[in-house]
Amino acid sequence: VRGIDVLRDPYINKDMAFTLRERQLLGVHGLLPPRIETQDLQCYNIMQNFYRFEHDLDRYIFLMGLQDRNEKLFYRVLEENVGIMMPIVYTPTVGLACQKYGLIFRKPRGLFISIHDKGYIYDILCNWPEHDIKAIVVTDGERILGLGDLGCYGMGIPVGKLALYTALAGVKPHQCLPILLDVGTNNETLLKDPMYLGLKQKRVTGQAYDDFIEEFMQAIIKRYGQNTLVQFEDFGNHNAFRFLEKYRNHYCTFNDDIQGTAAVAVAGILSALRITGKTLQENKFVFQGAGEASIGIAKLLILAMKEDGCTEEEAVTKIYMVDSRGLITKDRPSGGVTGEKLLFAKDHEHLDNLETIINNVKPTAIIGAAAIAGAFTPSILKAMASFNDRPIIFALSNPTSKAECTAEQAYSNTQGRCVFASGSPFDPVTLGEKTFHPGQGNNAYIFPGIALGVICCGVRHISEEIFLKSAKALASMVLQSDLDKGRVYPSLSKIREVSTNIAIEIAHYAYKYRMAAHYPEPQNKDEFIHGQQYCTQYESFVPQVYDWPNDVANPL
Ligand code: NAP
Ligand code: MN
Repeated sequence: VRGIDVLRDPYINKDMAFTLRERQLLGVHGLLPPRIETQDLQCYNIMQNFYRFEHDLDRYIFLMGLQDRNEKLFYRVLEENVGIMMPIVYTPTVGLACQKYGLIFRKPRGLFISIHDKGYIYDILCNWPEHDIKAIVVTDGERILGLGDLGCYGMGIPVGKLALYTALAGVKPHQCLPILLDVGTNNETLLKDPMYLGLKQKRVTGQAYDDFIEEFMQAIIKRYGQNTLVQFEDFGNHNAFRFLEKYRNHYCTFNDDIQGTAAVAVAGILSALRITGKTLQENKFVFQGAGEASIGIAKLLILAMKEDGCTEEEAVTKIYMVDSRGLITKDRPSGGVTGEKLLFAKDHEHLDNLETIINNVKPTAIIGAAAIAGAFTPSILKAMASFNDRPIIFALSNPTSKAECTAEQAYSNTQGRCVFASGSPFDPVTLGEKTFHPGQGNNAYIFPGIALGVICCGVRHISEEIFLKSAKALASMVLQSDLDKGRVYPSLSKIREVSTNIAIEIAHYAYKYRMAAHYPEPQNKDEFIHGQQYCTQYESFVPQVYDWPNDVANPL
């Protein structure tokens, strides 16, 4: 690449940071103002622009523009301002961006594969300009965040998730590929919208849909190799569990809504135990909701209890699930206990009111993931505080408007004794003398580090143990000072370190149990992982020059 195309290529563009020699050699001299900027100054400039905007959606558009123009600068700014920018490139703003996708769409990023491309998926993959793809995040847009079916507008999610792969874990951006599978949408508003960019038809389901996904998986392997990581994201509940079971032992794949959520929540529970002073088995959990999040968490809790020496039967007795038809019991009159829920069905009288259930079961922990706002009423919170010295209250539903209770409600109804965490961020709460800084159980603590570890080692299948290892690695990074503030997660500013440590843990584990494909085994796992992380420092484009002996270089 030479000349103006250098400035148009986000992978190599440095904007004003090209040195004089580079400008001359690359043929861009004069195309830039005559001043050389450092990357530090460029970052400062970006932040000034960032704050100038009044709306987060404009900040999102601005950052996506930067990603399209100067990739290294984009990731440097993102990495250094995680706390401020994560809510922009990821939830909640990315949700708004998806809803407005038709309006703000400027430049394609990622691949769109539609159901009408069946039979030709491999050919479409060949149109993607990069060859060395290691990680794919794919969605069919059916259940975007808590927003429902957004069809092809769901593309914002794989793009945002993969940006975090790089910013939070240092996975190389050219190895990441966002994919949207467009099988139609059942969203009436979009179907009627003249600006909608996707297929204007109802979702294709059944065998035709399954065959499409199957062809997609095979095409990925054919194009990019056996070890390509495929993260399923924001699929509808009925498809998410099915595909996880179908593919987890044959492909390198995971579902973040089920397994990533599980790991981050279990990490929070493990940290909470340092406050409550109980062992895991000494707890009783009530889950409000029995969907992707709850089932994922519950299953990982069972694995964690088994590692502590409990049998599966014992572990299951500690976990109660409540879904839209009430407490999940065997042969309940309201029915609907099938699939993943069966394992948790209890021999118990049928109850359908959450408060009654909680007063009956007297759990040590309640975990909300049903997207029913306000489900943890003041009287439920008070009840939890009446039979527990330190009740565990996790209100995981997103976005903030869907939370089971606010941080303020949780602390004030338990005299500040609860251990609280939430899915969406809450501001600190002051109660008398004490200020609480509640932790956010953000999946971003987990999935980027898992991806990095899996890619670096060439892990073939991502076992449940890998998620438990990751949860434990995350929990081990929670300091006493975090716990003292009421936070069961490390500060977001340490998230890059968290991801790196998770990847190092996975490397130790994968080589020990022969799950890695990349040999010879690296002796120093720290160096091995660090050595593969993306670096946001600009490369020099001035070639190294050296001399030959004078008589060789200049013969007479
Ligand atoms: P999902 O698979 O659709 O599951 C939702 C569950 O809630 C279903 O089991 C449903 O019952 C149940 N439910 C609905 N209404 C109910 C009611 N009135 N009472 C009790 N249960 C009820 O969704 P998901 O993926 O698990 O996500 C659920 C929530 O968790 C979302 O708000 C999401 O944002 C949040 N989440 C948070 C995190 C995080 O904090 N890191 C991660 C993932 C998800 P039926 O089974 O009977 O339909
Ligand atoms: Mn998701």
